[in-house]
Order: sequence, then C-alpha cells, then structure tokens
Amino acid sequence: MSNNDHYVIIGNGPAGNNAAATLRENDTDAKITIISDENITFYSKPGLTRYLAGDLTVEGLTVKTLSFYREKNIRLRLGQTVDRIDSENKIVFLNHMEQVHYTKLVIAAGSRARLLPSMQSYANCLKHITSYNQVMEFKEQIQAATEFFIFGGDLVGFKFIRMLRKLGKQVTLLIYPNAFWPFNLTDEILNTIVPSLNREGAIVLVNDDIRQIEKKEHTYLVKTVKGVEKQVDMVFSFNGLVPSVDFARGCGLDIDYGILVNETMQTNLADIYACGSCAQIYNPKINSYTTSIGWPNAVVQGEVTAMNLLGDHRVIAPAGRKYFDLEGVKIKTTWWEDVEDASSI
Ligand SMILES: Cc1cc2nc3c(=O)[nH]c(=O)nc-3n(C[C@H](O)[C@H](O)[C@H](O)COP(=O)(O)OP(=O)(O)OC[C@H]3O[C@@H](n4cnc5c(N)ncnc54)[C@H](O)[C@@H]3O)c2cc1C
Repeated sequence: MSNNDHYVIIGNGPAGNNAAATLRENDTDAKITIISDENITFYSKPGLTRYLAGDLTVEGLTVKTLSFYREKNIRLRLGQTVDRIDSENKIVFLNHMEQVHYTKLVIAAGSRARLLPSMQSYANCLKHITSYNQVMEFKEQIQAATEFFIFGGDLVGFKFIRMLRKLGKQVTLLIYPNAFWPFNLTDEILNTIVPSLNREGAIVLVNDDIRQIEKKEHTYLVKTVKGVEKQVDMVFSFNGLVPSVDFARGCGLDIDYGILVNETMQTNLADIYACGSCAQIYNPKINSYTTSIGWPNAVVQGEVTAMNLLGDHRVIAPAGRKYFDLEGVKIKTTWWEDVEDASSI
C-alpha cells in the first residue's frame, strides 16, 4: 500500500460503494474516486418500486448521503459515464472527454435490462426498471397511467406487478418462463402463480408471444400471436439483467457476458478487479464462471475486492442459499433474496 495510490471505482451500487468504504477503513491516506453515471448518491434499487408507488421518498431510498463521501474523503463523480479504459496507461475515459488516472481500478458497473432479440424492433416502445435515472423519466407517467402490458416477468418485474396491483392499475402479463434466467419457471410453478395473479385481477397470458406493438399518439396497441389485442398506456419488458460491460471491451480484459474474475475477484489484468453483477466469478467446483446477481452478494464481493486490493488474499465464498417468494411459491437460489429495505443490510 502506498500513499500515491488512487483507487478508481466505476459504479456506486452495493459492490462499488462497499469496496470504497472498505478501502477507506483500511487505508486512510489513499485517494479514492467513485464514478457513477447516475445523478443520485448510493441508493436502494430494491426500494425503487416502493419509490414509484409513492411509499418511499428520495431520502428513504437513499442509503448514503453526500455527508458519507465527505466524511470518508471519497470523491464522488455523479452523472459521469465511463466510455472506455486504457489499461496500459491506467486511464479511464469519461464521455465528456475527461481522463481519470488510476493506480488500481474496481469495475462495479452492475447490470442493465436484457432485451430479447425478438423485441429489438420494439425497443423504443419498451420501458425497464433498472435505475433511478430511468425511473425518474416515467415516474409521473406511471402514476397517471391505468393500463399496463408487461412482457417477460422476472424478479424485478414481479415486484413491479405487485406495486401496480396495489395502486389499482390494470395489468396484462405475457409470461416468459425463461425471463427468470438463470432460473426457469416450470409448469408446476406456473400452475400456482398464474391463478394467484388472476385472483388479484391481473390477466396472464402463457404460451403466447408478441406479434406487434403499434405506437399510437399516447397509447400502445399490443397484439399477440394468439390474437389477443390490448390497448395500454405503457409497455414494460422484464427479461432478466445482463452485465454492463460494453465500455470495458477492447482494453484487454477477458470478458464473456460478464468480466471474468478469479475467486479473489481479480481480472486477467494487473490492478483491475471486478465485482457485483458485472462480474463472472470462477468457481473451481464446477470449473466454470457464474454471475451472482442480488444485493447481498454484491455487498460481500465489494468487501472481498477491497481487501484483496489492499494485499489480503480472500477467496469469495460460494453464495449462500437464499429464498424469494413468487406469488406464494418459495424459490430457492443463491443469487437473490427479497430485500425491502436495503439500507438495513
Ligand atoms: C427494481 C429492482 C429491485 C431489486 N430488488 C432486489 C431484491 O429484492 N433482492 C436482491 O437481492 N436484489 C434486488 N435487485 C438487484 C440488486 O439491486 C442488484 O443485484 C445490485 O444492485 C447489484 O449491485 P452492483 O453494485 O453489482 O450493481 P448496481 O447496483 O447495478 O450498480 C452499478 C452502478 O454502476 C453504474 N454504471 C454502470 N456503467 C457505468 C459507466 N459506464 N459509467 C459510470 N457508471 C456506470 C450504474 O449506473 C449503477 O449505478 C433489484 C434490482 C432492481 C433494479
């Protein structure tokens, strides 16, 4: 460890923020910078649906306020997007042409919505809920809208559907069993969750597909292959998340769908680590790489990353068993846990 160290962290979610906090706890002198393309300090993504419903204020959503960064002497660059990395010269390029030099880099850029190839042509009709910035674009529209079409499902999608039903909105869900990747809904599970959604007044379409989405002036006409037609105010797609790694391609990092790291969260390049849902971690037991989405996993990975950057040798433990509740069906995974109040974690 040297006083000339400059730790640059891309991403201010649970992985990046916890990496920064752990670095500061153990290295009081180093320069630490977090870069985030969002316009808000560290906040709870699990709380976004409650925020949309009006149950949480921005203050309630916020996990760390600006005073945290001031007290810890962590420089926070908000609203700045990393465009590319020059790993040879240890420079991060921001999209407003500024360059940030690092000695050690942590990539904790999280994930973005997965858009199925069959839906690419409707991309401009579809909305997703993956960040505060996105939600701010249509929060008021959601409150005014009455009819929603949801395509896919996935865990975030189910949280959103619960919120819409609570607000008394009309919901049609075209459910895709593989939208829950890496988990696939079986017929047995579908047979429980579909009646549960129906009882709550949601229309659920199974074994169907989108044929066309027509954009009218302020509404959308959604037509399915089986002939269902719905005029709605908003169309959402929830088909899982994919790591946000495009900006990291071409700099020499080994990337599959996520950034490949070993069990200590180190990439193939010296002084670059990756953690959270943008990373694919090597698991020697299966001799393969796995992505672990989910808030609690990101927190642990941020800490392990920081400790290893500081010279420790911590191996990431396999994620523990967690449960989530899908319309009364308890589903067991290693990568997600129903989190309501992330600030308590
Ligand atoms: C609505 C919603 C509800 C959820 N509910 C739950 C739940 O109940 N339980 C659970 O376990 N998990 C839940 N999750 C998932 C959980 O929030 C994520 O697994 C977790 O946030 C991942 O943490 P992370 O630090 O890896 O990435 P993120 O939290 O995604 O943070 C990454 C940050 O990096 C920034 N970034 C990305 N690219 C760039 C770039 N090029 N330049 C600058 N900044 C960049 C992003 O804007 C983002 O702020 C939910 C997610 C959502 C969206």
